[in-house]
Amino acid sequence: MAVLSRRAFAQIVGGAAAAAALPLQLAARPNASAFVRLSANENPYGPSAAALQAMRDAFPKACRYPDDEVDTLVDDIAKLHGVSPRQVLLGDGSSEILQLAAAAFSNPQRALVVAEPTFESIAQHARSAGAEVKRVPLDASFAHDLPKMLEASRGAGLIYVCNPNNPTATITPDKALRSFISAASPDTTILVDEAYYHYATSSDYGSVIDLVAKQPNLVVSRTFSKIYGMAGLRCGYCVAQEQTIRRLAAHQAWDTVNVMALVAAHASLGDERHVAEHRRRNSDTKAWLRRSVERLGYRMLPSEANFVMIEMKRDVKPLITAMRTRGVAVGRLFPAMPQNLRVTIGKPEEMQRFVEELAKG
Ligand code: PLP
Repeated sequence: MAVLSRRAFAQIVGGAAAAAALPLQLAARPNASAFVRLSANENPYGPSAAALQAMRDAFPKACRYPDDEVDTLVDDIAKLHGVSPRQVLLGDGSSEILQLAAAAFSNPQRALVVAEPTFESIAQHARSAGAEVKRVPLDASFAHDLPKMLEASRGAGLIYVCNPNNPTATITPDKALRSFISAASPDTTILVDEAYYHYATSSDYGSVIDLVAKQPNLVVSRTFSKIYGMAGLRCGYCVAQEQTIRRLAAHQAWDTVNVMALVAAHASLGDERHVAEHRRRNSDTKAWLRRSVERLGYRMLPSEANFVMIEMKRDVKPLITAMRTRGVAVGRLFPAMPQNLRVTIGKPEEMQRFVEELAKG
């Protein structure tokens, strides 16, 4: 697999001189630990105490291949979603699941259909597979424009629906998504990316994992990188029907998830309080941020995730650069929304710092 870091990816996709300069700026900063990182939609509080302890306990297992730990986590996930273990595939982050889906279901004859803007990595993998990438702008409420995506998907190999969507933090309503999934061609695979599932609180939002039972063309991905605070550990998964899992797994290296990530994910699923606690912290800090941003005269899109889009009503590229030089990393430039700033919800003191910088204009 090509070595492509998130930071390098931001440089390629954003294409902004500011983003390209980031590593050098970081290296030159006298006190890099003072850098406020609100750029990658991470959970700043980190893994649960149970996950940290599980990793400490697993140090002696570092010399073994992680077969038992894979089985344990796959069983946990299968139980959680009421599916068979053969319907679960683990990935080195959900990024790997996206890469496998592009490899398995897109090619020069079978396009990928995505929203614009959305999380870009799957489009990059589809292009590597020689596939055309068809982009369908989000609708006026920043939901996926499902009727237009359906039209665009004729003959396509893969449709990617990110719900909640990155970078907008908006949702595509559950009812409409369900109808779309049953209306799409059975020859076209639909990947619904639920990376931010745990943060969504809208009554219009829902997971579509239960539809896997009757939809052989549906793949639903989740990650331990967001609410579980494990972005640096790299563990994600998908749920699909058995034959679909086999098609994905055919493109995967062996043992791509390491033993620390596996035991931490297992412990995280066993820590029932973690999700509720981090959902609450995120909601509280986000509500404070909304009030502060509105007081400064800006508007935020509705957010169902651990990040927000702020409408700046001006080109945000210079602001992204200026904030970085002042020690606050915010999201990269999204060319389809050049006047919107994506900001991750950090700890209260980090958001305070962000608001101070925003107030400077
Ligand atoms: N999907 C979405 C929508 C994301 O925003 C991200 C990361 O930011 C990922 C997938 C990949 O996450 P990971 O590989 O850490 O699971």
